[in-house]
Amino acid sequence: MLVSYIGVRSPQIPIRCTMPYKVISFILVVLCLSVPLHAQDEPTMGVEEYEPKSTLVVPENPITRAKYPFVDVHAHQRRGSSMNAGQVQNLIDEMDKMNMAVMVNLSGGSGERLINGVKNMNGRHPGRFIQFANIDFSKIDEPNFGENAAAQLEEDVKNGAQGLKIFKNLGMFTNFTNGERMKTDDPMLDPIWAKCAELGIPVLIHTGEPSPFYEPHDKYNERWLELKQFANRKRPPEEFPTWEVQMGEQHNLFRNHPNTIFINAHLGWLGNNLDRLGALMDELPNMYTELGAVLAELGRQPKHARAFLIKYQDRVLMGKDSWNPEEYHVYFRTFETGDEYFSYYRKRHAHWKLYGLDLPDETLKHIYYKNALRIIPGMDSSLFPD
Ligand SMILES: [Zn+2]
Repeated sequence: MLVSYIGVRSPQIPIRCTMPYKVISFILVVLCLSVPLHAQDEPTMGVEEYEPKSTLVVPENPITRAKYPFVDVHAHQRRGSSMNAGQVQNLIDEMDKMNMAVMVNLSGGSGERLINGVKNMNGRHPGRFIQFANIDFSKIDEPNFGENAAAQLEEDVKNGAQGLKIFKNLGMFTNFTNGERMKTDDPMLDPIWAKCAELGIPVLIHTGEPSPFYEPHDKYNERWLELKQFANRKRPPEEFPTWEVQMGEQHNLFRNHPNTIFINAHLGWLGNNLDRLGALMDELPNMYTELGAVLAELGRQPKHARAFLIKYQDRVLMGKDSWNPEEYHVYFRTFETGDEYFSYYRKRHAHWKLYGLDLPDETLKHIYYKNALRIIPGMDSSLFPD
């Protein structure tokens, strides 16, 4: 603007300036040099570096120990089958500090491995650990795969398994040798789900990924950072069925087996759309869900999430997923306090702050342990209050 005002010798705008020409030229040169130089001096940074320190001063109520003893229904101790007494004791010590009464190890395996996990973990601290068995999907080309897997599962339950965990491989990476993808609701697997109903054990199933993983990796993607840090988590439509297709198969599975109890892991990746999750809950009374790795979804919508958890308090279980004791504290704070604008622990999951839900005691009890006591067989109820 300055340049055009001073410098352009436009015939329509007569310049009424008494300054000598040389002075004007000098000012112009200084202006031209200083504007770009100044722009270069401005610090630039990427979104990954930006870590503003909040100046907000509000009451803070950090919590390091849950208000009630709780069951972590989504834990992975992949080395449970080879753990020594000291390693198991370390786990117990960390659990005691935060009031975790029972840990459900979803990576229990099957056969020998399961037997050893039960012996090493459950055997040393009766009641404190639960093992969920897993299915070996490497033999899906065999004609009686479903029946054989169900028989193995029955054996595993005899050996101490108290549930079944299905990993996300099913429906995403598990292929027949002809290259065809095995669908989550493939009827070949029906004997497994029927066996779970017969044995009275729940199936904790993780299907698919957060929906942004299926979307273009651009500036609009809420998980842009995670997909940059872990490019192998991208699920482009050229290589993978869409989120709707994958999750639709899972919902179909629940529909087809109303007598089997399913725990849909990670809020069924609908933590960002609790009304849709609620509609699914209403339609499928055999579907439960858990909170592993999706805390940030709840903490960004404290009012809506609070109403949801109160309404569905009989169907939601406490779960965490990755084993990092300090991160549990943020779960407790989110559920038990009304704190505002506090930090989550994983930037790639959330570029926002969390707000506490201030859940009523009865809802906390259901989520922390009552639902687990009801749907997981063989638990020690003496570890929990009424
Ligand atoms: Zn998991």
